[in-house]
Amino acid sequence: MDTNNQIQAWVNTIDDFLISIDINGIILRVNQAWVDFCVEQNVRESLWKVGSDYFKEFEKLGKERELNAIKQVLTYKKKEHKQMYPLLLGNGDTQWLEVKVRRLEFSSGTSTEAIISHKPITLQAMEPITAEIILDSMTEGFCLLDDQFHLIYINEIAEKLLQSKRGLVMGRGLFEVFPETVGTYFHSHYQHALEEQAVVEFVDYYQPLDIWFKVKACPLKKGGLALYLQDVSERKKTEAQLAESANYDYLTGLPNRRLITQMTRSLLSEGKKFTVFHLNIHNLNFINAVQYYDAGDTIMRKLSEELKGFAHEKCHIARMDGNQFVILKETSLKERLTPFAEQIEEIFHKPVLLDTGQKIQVCVNIGIACYPYDGQTMEEVYSYAEMAMHEAKTVRGSCHAFFRPRMKSVHERKAAIVEGLAGDFKKSGFYYTMQPQINGDSGKLIGVEVLSRWAHPNLGEISPFEFIQVAEETGDIVPLTFHLLTEVFTQLKSWENRYEWKVRAAINMTPSLISNTDFFDQFFVLMKDYEIDPKQIEIEITEQAELTYSPKTLENLLLCKSKGMSIAIDDFGTGFSMISYLTHFPITKIKIDKSFVQKIGQDSKSEAVLKSLIHLAKSIECELVAEGVEREEEAEFLQANGCSVYQGYLYDKPLKVEDLERKYLELGQKSLVMSQALND
Ligand code: C2E
Ligand code: CA
Ligand code: CA
Repeated sequence: MDTNNQIQAWVNTIDDFLISIDINGIILRVNQAWVDFCVEQNVRESLWKVGSDYFKEFEKLGKERELNAIKQVLTYKKKEHKQMYPLLLGNGDTQWLEVKVRRLEFSSGTSTEAIISHKPITLQAMEPITAEIILDSMTEGFCLLDDQFHLIYINEIAEKLLQSKRGLVMGRGLFEVFPETVGTYFHSHYQHALEEQAVVEFVDYYQPLDIWFKVKACPLKKGGLALYLQDVSERKKTEAQLAESANYDYLTGLPNRRLITQMTRSLLSEGKKFTVFHLNIHNLNFINAVQYYDAGDTIMRKLSEELKGFAHEKCHIARMDGNQFVILKETSLKERLTPFAEQIEEIFHKPVLLDTGQKIQVCVNIGIACYPYDGQTMEEVYSYAEMAMHEAKTVRGSCHAFFRPRMKSVHERKAAIVEGLAGDFKKSGFYYTMQPQINGDSGKLIGVEVLSRWAHPNLGEISPFEFIQVAEETGDIVPLTFHLLTEVFTQLKSWENRYEWKVRAAINMTPSLISNTDFFDQFFVLMKDYEIDPKQIEIEITEQAELTYSPKTLENLLLCKSKGMSIAIDDFGTGFSMISYLTHFPITKIKIDKSFVQKIGQDSKSEAVLKSLIHLAKSIECELVAEGVEREEEAEFLQANGCSVYQGYLYDKPLKVEDLERKYLELGQKSLVMSQALND
């Protein structure tokens, strides 16, 4: 028997699957066990037929590293090469083989023939190697890839996650099993992890399985990658919902402040010119108070729908807070913005129809600022648009205003007022005056109106017209009015104790206070604490379009009246709804506005209106006061027509407490005043 036959006989006695190859990878010998196995399992002929190219099989699978290792053994560079190898069987299953490559040593000396043994191993046999049990008990999916991205192991979880049978995918290329990953992050991240020997973590969506995977790819020292997989689809969904709610307004579905800020930033980064329209929906606070919140929400939703009509690729609408909207429009320098602003205003020309059939008229004030013309940063442009909106707000009805640099000082002044309102009222320079109301027939004082004053440390005297409105906007009107009431109650008590004088004091109340039930609860407690007779207190409510009928307002006012307080309607004749006021609210006193009084002797039409106002008050048995009486002629006309109580400079300007005390209590008029006390 020649050597060759001897060898063949020998290999056939071995149960391990053996082949031998020459330096070029051509199969020289195969033992019977391997042939039987391969035939039975329908394994590709190239792996077992004598004369086949064994290397080609490796090349085909891209197993260059293994191929090199085998070649190194053949060329004496390496004594032995050992590896685990997943063999794909004809039925699609995988058989793991432990492959060992050694040179055939002949007694004659050198040889360029290598003998390769394939030892089948079961998964159980792999346990010590792959820690199968541990891996399968992992809560994460786990895969092992060799450095050619062949799946050499996947655990049970990964099997489920990837919806792939272990037996079917083991040994196959990852990108062949999951071709849709080619060119995606999965692909590039795995390559990066392997090439850079760096741990890569990422989250990406795999469309064919509709799963968001969180993947950690760890390069292994021996080559290849360990992949840890988690299904984070649920988390992703909640994140997406959160992102949605974080970027859109829940009520209107419009982008919110956050999103419009991002949009503005991206315009800035692209060097685009744009204009910010700041919209303030007016009357809404009052509508909320009057109709309950539902109505306000309905109005916001309906208006948003209309505003959405302006949105397009270069024009975005956002709801900021409450009743504030922003329109962000890409604009060119020459573009005329007025027509656009007017189109927005047009929406507000018709009233909003509520589900109840009620129609509510709301107004819009639009402030406009352009980038880069008005402001050079996003913050500037937004704050300038808002400043311009405040300017527009000073006009009644819907209107718009373009930003002008002078508005900055107006804004700074307002900011100082807002700051002052948040501080200690007394230390900040708040005080009050009292303006007497005089009975013209007897010349007696019948009450005072309390008027707030503010000597601001930096801004000087500020008109109550200005700071009351700001306090109303910021909500500081509540603490401010409490402060005033405390001061006034203390003063009234002091006069009562010192002079046995109980004067009636009228306090001005803004619309937000009148609809505020908590405020009234505390107001009554305060009155009780100071032991103030409710008959001593008069509430002045301004006749404003905003203060329409509301159950809360009515309830508060009825409660005041039931306690014996008097309720006066201020500036009567200037508002829209004087008759509805008189019929809806328990009004006990009418204060005729000074604009009518001033026209006495000058405008016969106004005189006629004045006469009918006096007649109206008398017919419904309301008390009557004429405000702003400055001239004798005015007092005479009023007296002749049946109004004999006056408040005006002709008698007294608003007086500081000590001046009022001096004039009416100390200078011998005490008896006169006292006889005019409340029962008068
Ligand atoms: P108002 O309630 O109509 O107060 C009357 C205003 O007319 C006062 O202005 C008063 O100083 C002024 N006045 C009185 N007599 C005459 C006159 O003969 N001729 C002229 N031309 N004016 C006269 P004032 O003090 O500047 O107050 C302005 C407004 O500010 C008040 O108008 C009132 O609506 C509001 N206000 C003042 N104090 C308070 C307050 O404590 N709370 C609230 N909510 N509003 C207040
Ligand atoms: Ca008043
Ligand atoms: Ca008034």
